[in-house]
Amino acid sequence: MRTLSQFIAGREHAPRSGEHLDDVAPATGEVVARVPRGGEADVAAAVEAARAALDGAWGKTSTEERARLLDAIADRIEARKDDLAALESLDTGKPLRLAATIDIPRAVANFRFFAGAIRHDRTDCHLTDGPPGPALNYTLRRPLGVVGLISPWNLPLYLLSWKVAPALGMGNAVVAKPSELTPLTASALAEITAEVGLPPGAFNLVHGLGPEAGQALVEHPGVAAISFTGGTATGARVAATAAPVFKKLSLELGGKNPTLVFADADLEQAVEGAVRAGFTNQGQVCLCGSRLLVERSVHDRFLEAFVARVKALRLGDPKDPATDLGALISLAHRDKVEGYLRLAREEGGRVLCGGERPALPAPLDRGAFLAPAVVAGLPATCRTATEEIFGPVVTVHPFDTEAEALAMANGVRYGLSASVWTRDLSRAHRVSAALDTGMVWVNTWLLRDLRTPFGGVKDSGVGREGGAYSLEFFSEARNVCVKL
Ligand code: NAP
Repeated sequence: MRTLSQFIAGREHAPRSGEHLDDVAPATGEVVARVPRGGEADVAAAVEAARAALDGAWGKTSTEERARLLDAIADRIEARKDDLAALESLDTGKPLRLAATIDIPRAVANFRFFAGAIRHDRTDCHLTDGPPGPALNYTLRRPLGVVGLISPWNLPLYLLSWKVAPALGMGNAVVAKPSELTPLTASALAEITAEVGLPPGAFNLVHGLGPEAGQALVEHPGVAAISFTGGTATGARVAATAAPVFKKLSLELGGKNPTLVFADADLEQAVEGAVRAGFTNQGQVCLCGSRLLVERSVHDRFLEAFVARVKALRLGDPKDPATDLGALISLAHRDKVEGYLRLAREEGGRVLCGGERPALPAPLDRGAFLAPAVVAGLPATCRTATEEIFGPVVTVHPFDTEAEALAMANGVRYGLSASVWTRDLSRAHRVSAALDTGMVWVNTWLLRDLRTPFGGVKDSGVGREGGAYSLEFFSEARNVCVKL
């Protein structure tokens, strides 16, 4: 079994605590690695190494050199794609096919994309002609310094690289804290940064528990900004710690995203889209469409086809290429999801399919598997239909009018994304404008262009990631005014 290390100043280190945590494979319950239990001392060492990198070789790199390094990291991830997909699947329980076609290719794309983005970046210039002008203003973009990156377990390398690439691209030094539940690909990324010759200290990795290593990173006075992706309650804690010391903050938080199906939609496509939105990654994507709102005139027909399609999803061995759904992240998380299914029944819901633990052969019988569930008959305002479950559970609700659909869609504390299924172009634009979410997909779900703003409103977060939004977050704008 592997024992992972902290990665500080370009080298592997044991945790200062001397303690390790078990990294458990959720599909089998096996302990697959020992993870350093990092804390304040490791974070302090990592921040010091990051500061030294900024004051040394890393702080002097040109944009072109940083772009070359990001491309080199992308090339190495691509060269190790099979190995990394296997690690991601082992750590998360997700199907290997998903890790190989989504998680790892997206990590490659993140580094390539931000290499291109910094090469082609531009800056603002304002010509002032009024009195006492004339003057020329231009915007200088400076790195923030040491930045803390905190990422969750659902898309480990995909989401970590989405932060690391722009942070390094803009010349910052990084201290990353991945979820201790899924540490394997973060450690692989650390190895890769060393292999490509990233100056020591530019990328540092501290494994450990959120309330220990994560909290220490947010509290550290030498950290200028925190980019956080995770749950809303944790995000609130991070904000409460970081705001009084004026750290720049990006918060990508939870969601309870609606899928709106209008009677004029291509229903076959809408069923496929709603299944993908509901159950990709076992429903553990912040963007998952866990509330399905269907116009009443097509509701029964739609629901019948939807349930049939969900029942046909293949649940089982993540290594089997035919598997659609693997294990949830942990037995504790499965307990939480099952608790919501009990609540759904108490609230008057009917579980139309799923919700049971499948009978699987050893060693999968010890895994955190749960059959994908569809629940009908609940009011759209009940707890099951408004709280983030983050598992394979979709609730279905009929509506009569567009206004009613919008009221239901917007009637939650979250506002991350929505998908709208309709063939009426005017309706598509009207509904998209009226939805209280950061992102809307029309006749599709999770179709990503890395240049677009990514993020949520209300309790789904603060700020945007993606393209120029990420470059802006990971830099400080300075105006220079030159009197002509
Ligand atoms: P989480 O429990 O909030 O954890 C996220 C990260 O924060 C982990 O690395 C965690 O470490 C760390 N953490 C926990 N307590 C902390 C503290 N006091 N200070 C600093 N860091 C701390 O979330 P999760 O369960 O891993 O992920 C699922 C959630 O993420 C869902 O709500 C999902 O919607 C959301 N999410 C949002 C997006 C988005 O882009 N909006 C994307 C993906 C996921 P430990 O794991 O060690 O506790």
